[in-house]
Amino acid sequence: MKDENKYLTLSGLEPLILTPESNFVNVGERTNVTGSRKFLRLIKEEKFDEALSVARDQVEGGAQIIDVNMDEGMLDGEQAMVKFLHLIASEPDIARVPVMIDSSKWHIIEAGLKVVQGKGVVNSISLKEGEEQFIHHAKLVKRYGAAVIVMAFDEDGQADTYERRIEICKRSYDVLVDKVGFPAQDIIFDPNIFPVATGLEEHRLNALDFFKATKWIRENLPHANVSGGVSNVSFSFRGNNPVREAINAAFLYHAIQHGMTMGIVNPTMLEVYDDIPKDLLERVEDVLFDKRDDATERLLEFAETVVGKDKVDDVTKNLWRNDPLQDRITHALVKGIDAFIIEDVEEARLTAARPIEVIEINLMTGMNVVGDLFGSGKMFLPQVVKSARVMKKAVAYLQPFIEAAKDPKAPKEGIGKILMATVKGDVHDIGKNIVAVVLACNNYDIVDLGVMVPPEKIIAEAIKHKVDAIGLSGLITPSLDEMTFLAEEMEKSGMTIPLLIGGATTSKAHTVVKISPKYNNTVVHINDASRAVTVVGNLLDKNNEAFKKQIRDEYDKFRDNFLSRKKAKEYTTLEVARERKYKIDWKHTTITTPKKLGVTIIEDFDLSLLKDYIDWSPFFRSWELHGKFPDILTDAVVGEQATVIYKEAQILLQRIFDEKLLAGKAIFGLFPASAINDDDIEIYDENGKAVNTFITLRQQLKRREGIPSYALADFIAPKESGKQDYMGCFAVTTGFGTDEIVQEFQDNLDDYNAIMVKALADRLAEAFAEYVHEKVRTDYWGYDANEHLSNEEMIKESYKGIRPAPGYPACPDHLEKRTIWELLNVEENIGMQLTDSLAMWPASSVSGYYFGNEDAKYFGLGKIKEDQLVSYAKRRNIPLDEARKWLNPNLAED
Ligand code: SAH
Repeated sequence: MKDENKYLTLSGLEPLILTPESNFVNVGERTNVTGSRKFLRLIKEEKFDEALSVARDQVEGGAQIIDVNMDEGMLDGEQAMVKFLHLIASEPDIARVPVMIDSSKWHIIEAGLKVVQGKGVVNSISLKEGEEQFIHHAKLVKRYGAAVIVMAFDEDGQADTYERRIEICKRSYDVLVDKVGFPAQDIIFDPNIFPVATGLEEHRLNALDFFKATKWIRENLPHANVSGGVSNVSFSFRGNNPVREAINAAFLYHAIQHGMTMGIVNPTMLEVYDDIPKDLLERVEDVLFDKRDDATERLLEFAETVVGKDKVDDVTKNLWRNDPLQDRITHALVKGIDAFIIEDVEEARLTAARPIEVIEINLMTGMNVVGDLFGSGKMFLPQVVKSARVMKKAVAYLQPFIEAAKDPKAPKEGIGKILMATVKGDVHDIGKNIVAVVLACNNYDIVDLGVMVPPEKIIAEAIKHKVDAIGLSGLITPSLDEMTFLAEEMEKSGMTIPLLIGGATTSKAHTVVKISPKYNNTVVHINDASRAVTVVGNLLDKNNEAFKKQIRDEYDKFRDNFLSRKKAKEYTTLEVARERKYKIDWKHTTITTPKKLGVTIIEDFDLSLLKDYIDWSPFFRSWELHGKFPDILTDAVVGEQATVIYKEAQILLQRIFDEKLLAGKAIFGLFPASAINDDDIEIYDENGKAVNTFITLRQQLKRREGIPSYALADFIAPKESGKQDYMGCFAVTTGFGTDEIVQEFQDNLDDYNAIMVKALADRLAEAFAEYVHEKVRTDYWGYDANEHLSNEEMIKESYKGIRPAPGYPACPDHLEKRTIWELLNVEENIGMQLTDSLAMWPASSVSGYYFGNEDAKYFGLGKIKEDQLVSYAKRRNIPLDEARKWLNPNLAED
């Protein structure tokens, strides 16, 4: 090997080569029982699945090597090490990176060396027990083909000065290279990182000596690398994270400058070097480089001012506290900081002529800035919701004073009153709540009627509260009809106020074509919160005639276009569509009999297992931040805001896990099944008795020759094929408990976290569906027992089989949920319910079917014709009118 090519080369499934150009190599240490209580518990309780997810988190979080340590009195360390390394080896997303086998017991290291995959690192050997022992271990490490960490430790103890460090490292190096023939590039020195600023005279040079020794090693011991555990340097500032993070970051920065190439760094305990406030940095560097006698005292002094703050940022952030009162109030509102708002509002109140003026002048001045920034796209939705939280707290504080002052103007009226409601039969309200909060912080009074609000109540409350507009929201398709119905009712009761339409299922087309013709006044479709503010502002303006006319004209034009553009599409008859069904070659299809037929219930589920199953992109969408996770975190426009809410979501999520705030429940069943009469699927019990039937719908839009007309029944072997097929269905929820936490946050005037909880509960429900589906594929049904997918592949659903959900494009018929509920006895078994509109309660729930055939795929039903509607009503045994109601959005107009 050419000398200059002697680089430390490690490997898991992939190589890791440390060239002079390489960046610092980060070693993950969470899989260390001495360093992580959680990991220790998981290993003790033999929860290896979760223990593996700790490793996976590390790798996903950027660890390039993982340190595995099983040194604990109560553990059989050797066995635990071997078992864990074996498990890692079969997880490609973890096994990618090299392993550091960490133990103070040689027999554990050797057991690890025997099974580790790729080229790992032994952590560690030293001259502590003499040269003979050292040589013996080094020879074995060499034979097993690993690299090695050498501690600066000898017969006399641990090196704690510059001289001792270089003396021991030099001696170790010479023994290894000359006597053992150990490859120099496979030697990594750990010259001991010790705490600084301890107050003890003999510790003053701890950092500086480490830097100097590192530099010396890199210059004098060719090809050797240097490593260390960084957090130890700030050990004496335990409990003061801002200062610890700054010390760690500054130390790491200088250590790397001096030649440290790898090490254990806890990324959550690290500030960005350039972001360390200059005054703090100066004091930290005074300590690290021992620049002045009072360096430690000065750092301690500074530390006192920031105890209890979470981030160094707060130190600089708090400079705004010196600004004039109005600037502070505005700053608090714009930044969403509620820590000082009461104190500032109180100060304002003491000088105000009347308490109400604090709202009218001070707070409104700030909120106007928020409004402008949001309006111009310089502030994002989550920030506005945080501003609203500050505002709410301030107003709540002022309320008693305003009442006591018996101000003739009190109680304070906003600039308009809006009623908000999620319509009857629908339970989802994240979007509605966001709009309500944003409107409220633009000084509108909100009458929020919550979810599942019947139309008569909406009308009665609107009249009672003399509201200026009604905002309706809905998530599932039957809500569209509810909205249309409400428009009719408003017309009948002679109302004239504007009607605002929003929610996931709504669209401009539906609003324009179906709803607005029913009501003679303004109907507007608004699907994002920032537009809501402008539109409501214009609608409630005294001179709103021009705006109303503009909307009316725009909608009329849209409607005309829409209706004329709608080319008469061609459809086939149901009979022809059936002839063109998707034909699977059942003769040559292998059908796997489920390992466990019948119904399975999962209760008391540990939701933290879902962490790796969460699809984060829709989470950001619910906050109106658009982009794909994880790229969104670094997006030029929304990246910063996305990162903030992502971090906050993690904290809340952890709380949900730790305090078991939400309960996860799931039920699924796997049954013998046969397609019958082309489009339906008959379900049998274990004795072969037919117990229920899924009714599927078939595409009727005319298609090119050779393109099939799909129905879900095509993915199940027909009875006449003579083959027994199987299918499944499921219902999962993570919504139990949401109401309680939401209430807790709302009592705290914290709408931001109230919305956050719901958004997270939704994420968990989807993740739970993914998790259970995986268990079904790999175990309960077991048709794909060896499936191994990364999180990304899982989210892309690149596995075999599908789980279509009633209400979605392939099966828009919500009534199918009733069949699932009957088959699985869902309500009795796990308490999930269906509303009038067949929305699932609690809100964060998912249900659907399982199809295992590898040709099964998602499609969109599209529109169907009257002949299928008639057939459907008959098969479902319901009146035609009722069938029409449920399938309304999918009926082709003649
Ligand atoms: N990872 C996403 C999952 C939800 S969307 C999240 O966390 O939000 C994907 C799911 O929607 C599928 O698993 C399926 O249940 C449903 N789905 C998607 N397209 C469908 C279609 N055409 N017909 C029926 N269901 C569909």
